[in-house]
Amino acid sequence: MPIQVFNTLTGKKEEFVPLEAGKVKLYACGPTVYDSSHLGHARMAIVWDVIQRYLRFSGLQVTFVRNITDIDDKIINRSKELKIRPDQLARHYLYEFWADMYALNVAPPDIEPRATEYLQQMILMAEDLVKKGKAYEAEGDVYFDVSGCADYGKLGKKNIEDLKSGAREQVRSQNELKEVKRNPVDFALWKSAPETETGWQSPWGFGRPGWHLECSSMIKSVLGETIDIHGGGEDLVFPHHENEKAQSESLHDKPLAKYWLHNSFVNVSEEKMSKSLGNFRTIADLLRDYSADTVRLFILQTHYRNPIDFSPESMQAAKQALMRLVRAALFAETEENGSGFYPSKHYSFDVKAAEKYKGDKTLSEFHNEFVAAMDNDFNTAVAISHLFGLADKISASKNDAERKLWAKALKDYAGVLGFTLADTRKEVDKNSTEQVLSLLLQLRQDARANKDFKTSDLIRNELAKAGINVMDTAEGPTWEKA
Ligand SMILES: [Zn+2]
Repeated sequence: MPIQVFNTLTGKKEEFVPLEAGKVKLYACGPTVYDSSHLGHARMAIVWDVIQRYLRFSGLQVTFVRNITDIDDKIINRSKELKIRPDQLARHYLYEFWADMYALNVAPPDIEPRATEYLQQMILMAEDLVKKGKAYEAEGDVYFDVSGCADYGKLGKKNIEDLKSGAREQVRSQNELKEVKRNPVDFALWKSAPETETGWQSPWGFGRPGWHLECSSMIKSVLGETIDIHGGGEDLVFPHHENEKAQSESLHDKPLAKYWLHNSFVNVSEEKMSKSLGNFRTIADLLRDYSADTVRLFILQTHYRNPIDFSPESMQAAKQALMRLVRAALFAETEENGSGFYPSKHYSFDVKAAEKYKGDKTLSEFHNEFVAAMDNDFNTAVAISHLFGLADKISASKNDAERKLWAKALKDYAGVLGFTLADTRKEVDKNSTEQVLSLLLQLRQDARANKDFKTSDLIRNELAKAGINVMDTAEGPTWEKA
């Protein structure tokens, strides 16, 4: 059975047929780099990571593009607060985002365009829309004329008349807004800005591009006028994706994307968080207490279109459940363990490579179940239940060769979902290390007090072998890395 995807545009599950046989052009909206990423960003990144991994596993040649919005009012406002340059702020959070993605084992996209690198293309696109009568200039701004776009609102399932009255209300309540739009629903392709701020020269004067235009223009530049899959979080459906679609399609007279896929939210109860396990505001906070595999399992055990309620209890449950997979994976040949941090390794495991498991009845059945789940709109929840099924069979098996083979398969298929199944049970943090060392120093002090110099020397020498120097100071013994 071919891959089925739920298309937001049609509101239906559809058979996935690439525009060009064997190839997939995939674009997912990336972050606006003005603050640290949180669990919701982690979900979005992991969902798209898994979708592109699975398409590759299926034998498709994928070009996965995830952009960086590095110019935006949010960036400018935050940089004013912090009294630093907007590009400096954007770079800071871009580095942090990359560190988060690396730590989460999210594979890098094939192309990662940054908005500030495509200004000329954005200006050109806005100019072309004006020339075509789809957009107009007003006092240094350029607006998209929604009245000229027949199916505006189709993606977001919005009624244009409702939008108009809603927008009018908004304008009335924001008196400072210039009344230059022909229609309150029209949105900016270009906004004028004072020359003292960040901006670029354009045919309409100094200013900045609109957010929606950024994505339309980057998609056109790196992938072309029509792509297979456009994705993002469900909060982007309207207005962001609606507007991207309106601009691109009005200019090119062809669909921007064949399939529109959207992932749901993570609901985080602030109260629950602060009460139980402290504050997991950022991805880095989360990864201090949970491994990347645990975060991934927590996210992927829910289908990407369903919301997830975060709770420390469910995070803890994911941690426990992951151990079932990790323990079963330990039966694989030792050289297979602990490798594979760099995710591209898993791209070599695809349906062709999976042929090697077809001779084994258990694995052949498992393969069919795994593929059926993932083909069904990337149902990771069901696919993961089959990974657990295989893990239980591995643990129950008494046949060494069989166990080895199954464990190897478990690691390969878990890798398709981006799991490393690395055994992290013996990775202890700095706190634990310090406690163990102070215990050893205490034992050495006790031995010395009892004139048991054999034991005190043994502790000092063994620690030295382990790369720890013990020093006696006026304040008592202390240690440092050799
Ligand atoms: Zn976008």
